[in-house]
Amino acid sequence: VNSPKHLRIVMLGLDGAGKTTILFRLKLGELINTISTIGFNVEQVTFRNLILTIWDIGGQQKSRPLWKYYFQNTQALIYVVDSADLHRLDEARDELHSVLDDPEMIGTTVLVYANKQDLPTAISPDELTRRLNLQALKGREWYVQSSNATTAAGLGDGLEWLVGQLK
Ligand code: GDP
Repeated sequence: VNSPKHLRIVMLGLDGAGKTTILFRLKLGELINTISTIGFNVEQVTFRNLILTIWDIGGQQKSRPLWKYYFQNTQALIYVVDSADLHRLDEARDELHSVLDDPEMIGTTVLVYANKQDLPTAISPDELTRRLNLQALKGREWYVQSSNATTAAGLGDGLEWLVGQLK
């Protein structure tokens, strides 16, 4: 049962982008479940009125029909990108737009973590904005926050923006 006070946020990104590290850094609470029986791993954290669901995307065509169960009533998407993994930026872009095309995701707010900014080959948040083609997004708020999940730099600022949007 989903109380209207609950904020549902989904965190997605390619494998290796830094999602688990971010989850750990945010120290939101206990990981309550990992569901692998339906073909992909889903982790969920509840913290006060926040329900944060997280999983890897990319190369998982089979699991796509199942996404909608997790997208229902989602207010926001946190999308994590490895800013230094230049070879996978196109894949990251395509997966993001594919998720946002889901009818359940209409109008959801999007926070992008331009993660791994500490790495020498990392592209800037502005460059990432272009590479992800975020200007094409219509009818929703979005924001790109630079982050380094290993030191937690930028994580709080990003969440603050997101929570401010959802009020
Ligand atoms: P996930 O697959 O998206 O959950 O990614 P993980 O959180 O498992 O991170 C993948 C790898 O990247 C791990 O070795 C992390 O320690 C590392 N990592 C995550 N965030 C950063 C970051 O901001 N900078 C650097 N240098 N490494 C990071």
